[in-house]
Amino acid sequence: MLEKKHHEYRERIQAFVKEQIAPRAAQIDLEQRFPVEYLKPMADIGLMSMLISEEYGGQPIDTVSYSIAVEEVSRVCGSTGITLAAHNSLGCFPVVAFGDDKQKKRYLPRAAAGEMLAFGLTEPEAGSDAGGTKTTAERKGDKWVINGSKCFITNASYAIATVGTAKTSDDPKDPTISCFILDKEMEGYSVGKKENKLGLRGSDTATLHFDDVTVGDESLLGKVGEGFKQMLITLDGGRISIGAMALGLAQGALDCALKYAAVTKQNGKPIGFRQAIGFELATMATEIEAARLLIYEASMMKDAKVPFSRMSAMAKLYASEVATRSAAKAIELLGEVGYYTGPYPAERIWRDVKLCEIGEGTSEIQRLVISRDLLKSVKEA
Ligand SMILES: Cc1cc2nc3c(=O)[nH]c(=O)nc-3n(C[C@H](O)[C@H](O)[C@H](O)COP(=O)(O)OP(=O)(O)OC[C@H]3O[C@@H](n4cnc5c(N)ncnc54)[C@H](O)[C@@H]3O)c2cc1C
Repeated sequence: MLEKKHHEYRERIQAFVKEQIAPRAAQIDLEQRFPVEYLKPMADIGLMSMLISEEYGGQPIDTVSYSIAVEEVSRVCGSTGITLAAHNSLGCFPVVAFGDDKQKKRYLPRAAAGEMLAFGLTEPEAGSDAGGTKTTAERKGDKWVINGSKCFITNASYAIATVGTAKTSDDPKDPTISCFILDKEMEGYSVGKKENKLGLRGSDTATLHFDDVTVGDESLLGKVGEGFKQMLITLDGGRISIGAMALGLAQGALDCALKYAAVTKQNGKPIGFRQAIGFELATMATEIEAARLLIYEASMMKDAKVPFSRMSAMAKLYASEVATRSAAKAIELLGEVGYYTGPYPAERIWRDVKLCEIGEGTSEIQRLVISRDLLKSVKEA
């Protein structure tokens, strides 16, 4: 199903991950340390600019290759997987898709070189209900004055700028949300508390505060009032990358379980040959392959520029639930070895994987997106 170039790309990323990411994957999780030293090598191989055109310094690839990259990185290190997925799909994509030439020239070459962009949608009272944004952008003369906070923002402490949403009208009959690109060095922009997370502990998640951040129209992304639509379009693509992250984590869990089942013997026989364990491995592998096909299908639909919103929600929903099951199964199969931090990363994967059922829309929100789209197609028929 995949083309030769995809297989070659996978091999290239696997070699990079083995050399650059794998040696420190357990350590950065243990130390809760964001690995800044990864950024330059990842930029050099194109992982920081997968959606950016060459004109702006990027190394663009198709969405299937992008999914392969996130999958292979996450297979070994979920923290680096989310760092990449958020930077490319959430930070860079809105600028690529909705930015003007000046904005692209200002941010994309730096992003491609390894300086990160973040995406600020979530607020204490606006997660699943993204329309509940409380951050405001008030028009004062020819400026916008932005006030509010964003929470759980990936890469927030390291990003040079954040693409964030704000209400540009308070009229309850006509509430409008717009997107702004806000630079870290702007007065009033500050990074708050870093989260102490269950998993993905080598990734950076923090709060952002905007206190009277004053910008001109050059910081507005697209037109006033287009922010909500821009965010929905961004999330459609982002869900493929979170699905790919889940897929990588699930594959990592299977890798652990397979290795353990093949080398651990009971009564002289590897435990994987006991039917109960062999069947578990078979189920895990089958579900993971099905998730992979969904991710690649959604990726191909995005590249073919056909509507892919339902498919990306299905891919993310299914892959993240498969990943959660696979991670739990891996720990069961490994027994005590799966439970502690050691040569098998099963417990790290189990902690990392839960995010995939939460970020970029919880599983409930994916089910809403899918069911609404299904019903819409009936109404339209
Ligand atoms: C590690 C991490 C990284 C993140 N990175 C970013 C980032 O970079 N940028 C960003 O903007 N956000 C980010 N987020 C936030 C993430 O997108 C939100 O957590 C997510 O959208 C869910 O929102 P919430 O946490 O406010 O949950 P809530 O919306 O409060 O939901 C709570 C529960 O209610 C359920 N629920 C809510 N509404 C409905 C409904 N209509 N129907 C059925 N059930 C419903 C949910 O499914 C969930 O189970 C990140 C979160 C984490 C944990």
